[in-house]
Amino acid sequence: MAVPTTDAEQPTARPAPARVCVVGAGFAGLAAAVALADGGLEPLVLEARERVGGRVHSRRLGNGAVVELGAEFVEDDHQTLVATARRLGLAMAPAGMAYGDREPRGGLGTDRATVLAEVARLRGLLADRPELTAGGRSVAAVLAELPLDPGARQAIAARLQVSTGQPVGELAATVLGHAGSSFSTRETLRVAGGNQRLALRLAERLPGAVHLGVPVQAVSWSAVGVRVAVQGAELDAEACLLAVPASVLGRIRFDPPLPPWKTGAMERVAYGHAAKLFVPLRQVPPPSAVLSVPDHYWTWTARGADGAVQPVVSAFAGSAPALAALEVAAGPATWRRRLAALRPDLDLDRGAVLSTWDDDPWIEAAYSTRTPGFDPADPDLLARPVGPLHFAGEHTAGPWSGLMEGALRSGHRAAAELLAVRPG
Ligand SMILES: Cc1cc2nc3c(=O)[nH]c(=O)nc-3n(C[C@H](O)[C@H](O)[C@H](O)COP(=O)(O)OP(=O)(O)OC[C@H]3O[C@@H](n4cnc5c(N)ncnc54)[C@H](O)[C@@H]3O)c2cc1C
Repeated sequence: MAVPTTDAEQPTARPAPARVCVVGAGFAGLAAAVALADGGLEPLVLEARERVGGRVHSRRLGNGAVVELGAEFVEDDHQTLVATARRLGLAMAPAGMAYGDREPRGGLGTDRATVLAEVARLRGLLADRPELTAGGRSVAAVLAELPLDPGARQAIAARLQVSTGQPVGELAATVLGHAGSSFSTRETLRVAGGNQRLALRLAERLPGAVHLGVPVQAVSWSAVGVRVAVQGAELDAEACLLAVPASVLGRIRFDPPLPPWKTGAMERVAYGHAAKLFVPLRQVPPPSAVLSVPDHYWTWTARGADGAVQPVVSAFAGSAPALAALEVAAGPATWRRRLAALRPDLDLDRGAVLSTWDDDPWIEAAYSTRTPGFDPADPDLLARPVGPLHFAGEHTAGPWSGLMEGALRSGHRAAAELLAVRPG
């Protein structure tokens, strides 16, 4: 990497100040860096992993299917992502199924049509009684209070628990209107050939500026600039844009420390937990989306870049209790067995790929979510700069938090703030 290492016997000259140091090469950091470069600055991106993309990580299986180990679904209102892909010359591939529309199986028993009808009724009930979703109540408490069909109520609760990665008893009722919890029946999209291509294309727009395998350890800052420390080297910059998750930001030492209003808001960010499983298929099925109501995971088969359904079934489990019950910490075996029982319509091939994130040192969770104690002032505090330090990441994206769309929007927002406060 280009950052010089410090040698005790042969001191290295300090490099010319990189104008802005961006920490993290997920969607937020890369989008910010490209916006800074477009604004005439010289961003230097430092990324702890050996790859770009962060929680967006695509992989091709032996049978040719491309799977998303992390973020996958793009809905039609995720306009920043779709526009970014278009600008970078990437096509969006329709999946042939809808993220928000899943056939519920197991539990008390219900069906798709009843769930969708009850979701529409729920929206009406909440619109009539906005006090229900205000004031620190949980999704579980609100759903229990409303006169919904019991099977549909259970399936809606399971669906929200899965998507937010958080048990509904610990989930803020405000998520009932959150973008990531959509029950839309519109066909969902993915970046053709893998969502990570978007990160790779953004990085191509930053030739020589993205450094991999470089965890930032410390940031010293003052009114006139920042000094960023990595293993064996320091570099000076005019400003630093931190695009790392709140869950691991505490590992970076700040001198002077960040103010309590900022650390408090960071510590209050709640994270959901999720894992994914991919099993190759011997026969290609039609597109599908099936939710296991009791086991809190869902499964899908979907079209790839060429429009054909890919020979793989994917599964996503959400919430810590669901991951524990599926024994993901011990490997894919238990979940694979449950999936075979849930989807007798599929011809599973041998093998399985399990993707876990709680054990990933650079996130230790899945994505931000909202507990009933959520403070509405926090999104503003999370996004607000501290002197020359600027903050991006999905957790700073307010209503778009938890999403790739939020990560991109946050990167653009933080870059615009930084460009706006520069002298001259
Ligand atoms: C299993 C799973 C499924 C998901 N599904 C979807 C979905 O279907 N649709 C959707 O829109 N979103 C989904 N998401 C959420 C989406 O992945 C995130 O919202 C988005 O990618 C976050 O981008 P980011 O740039 O904010 O953070 P990240 O992608 O986490 O990027 C932060 C980067 O900072 C780096 N970093 C951390 N600490 C340091 C350090 N000290 N020094 C240097 N670098 C550091 C990390 O390695 C990482 O690369 C999913 C996430 C997961 C985990």
